[in-house]
Amino acid sequence: MRGQSFAWQVILVGASLAVGCTVVPAPIESDTPSLSPIGPPPLATPAIPAVDPYATARNAMVADGIIGWGIEDPEVIEALGRVPRHEFVLPEYLDQAYENHPLPIGYGQTISQPYIVALMTQELDVEAGDRVLEIGTGSGYQAAVLAELGVEVFTLEIIGPLATQAEERLSRLGYTSIRVRHADGYYGWPEEGPYDAIIVTAAPDHVPQPLLKQLGIGGVLVIPVGPVGGYQELWRITLREDGTAQSMSLGGVRFVPLTREEAP
Ligand code: SAH
Repeated sequence: MRGQSFAWQVILVGASLAVGCTVVPAPIESDTPSLSPIGPPPLATPAIPAVDPYATARNAMVADGIIGWGIEDPEVIEALGRVPRHEFVLPEYLDQAYENHPLPIGYGQTISQPYIVALMTQELDVEAGDRVLEIGTGSGYQAAVLAELGVEVFTLEIIGPLATQAEERLSRLGYTSIRVRHADGYYGWPEEGPYDAIIVTAAPDHVPQPLLKQLGIGGVLVIPVGPVGGYQELWRITLREDGTAQSMSLGGVRFVPLTREEAP
């Protein structure tokens, strides 16, 4: 386990969004393949262009909204600096991809605020090689940040099209250590457990017992708990060796609700 820190900020997620008109940066043109029949075949276009038009914006987001807001773990900071968040947002929000607030991703859901992704990731305290379960894949951004830390990610999404889109996006971007499944995350993914860490990115009104059962000894569960539509409390729950759980509040947050599959 790596060093831990405690953040004092109150985090607001999923609050009302000011959505202005967007300016989409012009795409960087890749080298045109030679038309000559002689010579090597053109290289496949990399998922992230060599010249990243968003690098400046991403660096500014990390400096101001991640380090500036108190995130200290260098690996988490570097991970946020590597993941191309603009690949995870809808085209109409490209100009806001590196602003420190949530954005709509369709189906009434949001990609979380970068600061809270960093905070929750830091609190999970993972090491390379760990197995991590995420409930609420959404865009796949949080899963990508975790994958950058060298962990194996198992992520569950209840909305079918979001699960499919995230799976395609993560595969296109080359994230091979993430498995996406379309399912109700309340029950976890028991076949792949126990997990070193579990992160829940939608808010239930109580801690789902199946998730606690799938946590390994010494494992950490980071979860927002509270009423639908209101503010919730973000909890860090650690499973001790004697089987008891130790809980610490990380402050007030606002997440979309953890929904449940309707009974057949
Ligand atoms: N982690 C995401 C953002 C999460 S938004 C990202 O990085 O983009 C919360 C997501 O949780 C939504 O996509 C929502 O559909 C999903 N969700 C809500 N209830 C769920 C449940 N019971 N099981 C799995 N996913 C759920």
